[in-house]
Formats: sequence, structure tokens, C-alpha cells
Amino acid sequence: MPEQTPTAESTPQRQNLLGMSREQMEAFFLAIGEKKFRASQMMKWIHHEGCDDFAAMTNLSKPLREKLARLAEVRGPGVVYEGASNDGTRKWVLEVEDGSYVETVLIPADNGKRRTLCVSSQVGCSLDCSFCSTGKQGFQRNLTAAEIIGQVWVAQRSVGPRRDSGNRPVTNVVMMGMGEPLLNYDNVVPAMKLMLDDNGYGLSKRRVTLSTSGVVPMIDKLGDDIDVSLAISLHAANDELRTELVPLNRKYNIRCLIDACHRYLSKCADNRLITIEYTLIKDVNDQQQHAEELATLLDELPCKINLIPFNPFPHSGYEKPSRNQCMRFQQWLYDLKHTATIRTTRGDDIDAACGQLVGQVKDRTKRHARYIQSIQIDAD
Ligand code: SF4
Repeated sequence: MPEQTPTAESTPQRQNLLGMSREQMEAFFLAIGEKKFRASQMMKWIHHEGCDDFAAMTNLSKPLREKLARLAEVRGPGVVYEGASNDGTRKWVLEVEDGSYVETVLIPADNGKRRTLCVSSQVGCSLDCSFCSTGKQGFQRNLTAAEIIGQVWVAQRSVGPRRDSGNRPVTNVVMMGMGEPLLNYDNVVPAMKLMLDDNGYGLSKRRVTLSTSGVVPMIDKLGDDIDVSLAISLHAANDELRTELVPLNRKYNIRCLIDACHRYLSKCADNRLITIEYTLIKDVNDQQQHAEELATLLDELPCKINLIPFNPFPHSGYEKPSRNQCMRFQQWLYDLKHTATIRTTRGDDIDAACGQLVGQVKDRTKRHARYIQSIQIDAD
């Protein structure tokens, strides 16, 4: 459900201002008898300064600050754990409203010039991709817009310095953590609008990427609503193998997914590329024939390919290919006129690498219990 525009009269509880879009914030101030321009001031305090204390908002009058303290609050997720890897990657485990945990990871690159935050959109995930440890945790619920943007807010507050110094703590966001973002559309889009808003995090649309496993109707809707970069979790170039790895492929097969990518690009104003994510799994999808299939499939699509060596987790049943095999796969693609990068594994020592974000999910699908049971049966 989208977050409701609050009114002072209709809400006995204090309103959390953290996840409010510009429009919602303006409506809030009008509803409490204040001018619309207060919304911009409040957004800057929250998102530029990381401020959650109305008393510190010194460009607001004292009576307004007191009124806000009665009617509203700025409440981010609680930080349960914060870790820093030897390679500079940082990870936060965050407690959200119902006591579940989600994880968010900040990955530095280019000598610290780029700092990419990997953000979660759901507690767990309902899609159960066979190579993904998040999928094995089952699914609890969608995150609210406040809980999604709260991950950026926590990271920025923690890393500092403030945005106004011109040195942004977070330069890029990828919606690539726990969950399928397009199955939480009504909360993900407002949160991404805050990432793009100048009074929010002021990131360019090229620096905010939504990664989907292929919810085709919502890709079309996304293209109508917000112009961010799109990544596709592809992992296989034939339907039989992709259905094994990404069960959603049964519903939206590869052809209709690639067609949706073309439609998405046709709606982008600039020369955008789709990012194709391809997790390389030993002896499953890392052979020459797979590279050839992939190259043929992507021949007509403006895209860049990101090869991700599989990150093993207990009882996954899959193995990571050797570094040499990953490089061979890259070369096969190159020979077929496709460039591909191999993603370096980051944050291994703090379990922050791709596919290692697990959080703590009160699994309402019971998938996690079935998974544990199947492991025990296998071991007997
Ligand atoms: S890969 Fe993404 S969509 Fe698939 S189970 Fe994991 S989190 Fe969900």
C-alpha cells in the first residue's frame, strides 16, 4: 500500500516524516496549518543534514518546532550492527518496525570517488531464486517508503560528511538488496523519487538503479513513472535453465522480458543501457555454449553485462567457478563483440557480498522451515 498523506486531525499517532515525498510533505504542512514551503526546509534538514531532532531545526520558529514535536517525528530504522570490511565495504543490519532485520551495504570504488549503496526493498523475498540465500529465508512483508529511504539516511548519517560539503557519502544507489523491488512498487517508487529530489539526496537518474528479476508488467509501469536505470537479473539465456534458476521465468519468459527492456529504453530520454546481471555458477551456466546463447540473445539490446561469480552459501548445491573460468567466459563474450565486467567480490569478511544479505525474516511463507527440513533430510 502507498503511504497515506497524513493530516493532523485524522492521525492520533505522530507522523513519521522520513519517507514522505515532496508532495506528501507539502500536504502534511498544509494540513497542520503551515505554509507549503516548509516542506523543502524540512526535507533538507532530514535528508541533507540527517537531522531527526526538531529542536535543532533553527530556521523554523520555536512554536512550529514545538508543534512538530507534538504531531510528527523523524524515525529511521534502528542500527543493530555496523561493520567495516578490510576492503572499505560497510554493512548495516537494521531493525525495522516489526522487529525484522534487513541489511544495507555501502561499496566504495574508484579510489573512493564512487560509493554505491545496495538497498533492500522487502523483508525476505517471495521469489525463491535457486542460487540466492535471501530467497531461502522466505518472505515477511514489503518495506515502507520510510524503511527504504531510511537505509540511505542511516548510511549517510553514519559515513558523513554532510552532502553540502560537496562530498557525498552516497553517490549511487542500487535497489539490489533483499527483495524484488517491483513487487513493492508503491513504496519503492516514492523512495526512489526522494533519492532523485534535490531536497532529498539529489542523485542523477543514471546513479539510481533498480534491479529486477523480470516482473514484466511493472517494468512497463516503471518506464511511465520514473526514469531510473534498469538492471535485469538474467543469469541464463534459455528458458529451461532460467526457469530453474529464476522461477518467475515461468510467468514472464526471456523473450517477453527482453521486449520489455526495449520498451523501457524507448521511454528513456537519453542513450541508456540496460545492465544485465549474470551470476556465473560452476558447470551450470558458465560454459562456452552459455556465452554464445547470451551473446545472441543480447545482440540487439543496448546493454552492458555484469558477470557475478556465485557466492556460495551452505547447502546451496552450487559452486563458484574458478577465476580462470570467469575470465574465459568474459573472453567468449568479448569474441562475440560483447563487453562484460566481472564483479569483484567485496565485503566477504563481513558477509556483505552479493547474495549474502540475509537479515532476519519472520518467514510467513514457511519456506525457510521447509528449506531447513530438506537440508536435514539430505544429511540423514
Ligand atoms: S535473487 Fe532477488 S528476486 Fe531472486 S530470490 Fe534473491 S532477492 Fe529475490
